[in-house]
Amino acid sequence: MSECDTRIIKIDPNNIDTEALKECAEVLKNGGLVCFPTETVYGLGASAFNEKAVENIFKAKGRPNDNPLIVHISDYEMLPLVTCCTGEQMERLMKLGNEYWPGPLTMIADRDSAVPETVSCGLKTVGIRMPEHPVARKLIELAGVPVAAPSANLSGKPSPSQARHVIEDLKGRVDVIIDGGDCRVGVESTVLDITSEEPMILRPGAVTLEDVKKVLGAGGQCDWRRGVKEGETPRSPGMKYTHYSPEAEVIMYEGDNELVKRNIKIAAMSCLLKGEKVGVMTVDENAAFYDMMPNVLSLGSREDSLSQASNLFRILREFDERGVAKVFAEALPTGGVGDAVMNRLFRACGGNIVKCDG
Ligand code: AMP
Ligand code: MG
Repeated sequence: MSECDTRIIKIDPNNIDTEALKECAEVLKNGGLVCFPTETVYGLGASAFNEKAVENIFKAKGRPNDNPLIVHISDYEMLPLVTCCTGEQMERLMKLGNEYWPGPLTMIADRDSAVPETVSCGLKTVGIRMPEHPVARKLIELAGVPVAAPSANLSGKPSPSQARHVIEDLKGRVDVIIDGGDCRVGVESTVLDITSEEPMILRPGAVTLEDVKKVLGAGGQCDWRRGVKEGETPRSPGMKYTHYSPEAEVIMYEGDNELVKRNIKIAAMSCLLKGEKVGVMTVDENAAFYDMMPNVLSLGSREDSLSQASNLFRILREFDERGVAKVFAEALPTGGVGDAVMNRLFRACGGNIVKCDG
C-alpha cells in the first residue's frame, strides 16, 4: 500500500488534552485510521459504520479478510447500535458487562444490520468490547460512533503493548498514532461467545473462565492447544492464524522445571558454540541459572501471570531488536490469566515444543 503521513500525538491518560483528542476523533469521523492505547494492547481503529474505512484497516495491517474485528463502544447507549440481541443473550451481556465492563472482555453477540458485514467478515455475530482505558473511552465518545479496532500490529507480529511498537509496524500506513504510554494488561481481551448454549471462551485473556462462571454460573473454554484442522471452520476465525511471532524462531520447553532449564541450557550453548545468536525467555526464579549466557530475558515471577502477560509481547519484540535468531522459552503455569499467556506463547512458537519429562 502507498505511504501516508502519520501524525504521532502524545496524550497523557492521567491528564487528557481534550482538544487534541477531539482532532483524533474528527479523523475517525471522516473515515481515517487512528491507533490508540487500550488497557489490553494498542488498537487500530476506524468508524465501525464506514465500510471503506474498515476495509482500510485490513489493508494497513495486511490482515486476512476472514478474521473479524472487535467493535469498541464507550457506553451502553452505543450497544443497540451494534447488536440486536435479546432474551438470554442480552441478559448474559448485561450481567457480564455489569461486572467486567469497562474492561478486557469482548462478547460475541448477534450483529445488528447497521454494522457492515465487512467488520465481521460475513458472520451474523459481532465482537463487542467497552474498553477501560481513559484515552480509548474518551476517543470513542468524542467520535460518537462505535470503533472497529483489531490490535495495531502488522498481521502475524506480536501485538503492541507500547506506542513505539505501533510506530514500528504502522507508521506511514495510518493517519494518527496516539502515544498514551504502556498498556496495563499486555495481552488481548478475552473473547467470549455468548450466543452458544454454553457461553464459551474462544480466546483466553485477563477475564478468566472462573470470572465468567462466577457471574453466569456456567461457561467453558475452547482447547487453545488444539490446532485448527484443514477444511475445518473454527468458531473464532482468528484461531487458525499463527500469531504473535517475532522474526526469531521460538521453541518452547515444557515439563519438569529442572529438566526444562537444563535442556534449554544445553541447546542454547550448542547454538552459541556454532556462532548462532540465541535468547532465553525465562522467569525471575530461574534467571540466575543462565547467568553466563547473553539475551536472557525474564517475564517476571513464575507465580505472577499478570506480570508475565504485561511483559510477553514487549519481550518477544525485544529479542528481534537484539537480532536473536532462536528463542528458547520456558513454558509457564496455566490456569487463570496463565491460560492467556500460554495461549500466546503456544501460538508464538507455532507448536514447536520440546517435552521435558523424566
Ligand atoms: P484482534 O482484535 O486482532 O485481537 O482479533 C480479534 C479476535 O476476535 C480474533 O481472534 C477474531 O477471530 C475474534 N472475533 C472477532 N469477532 C468475532 C466473531 N464475530 N466471532 C468469533 N470471533 C470473533
Ligand atoms: Mg491481533
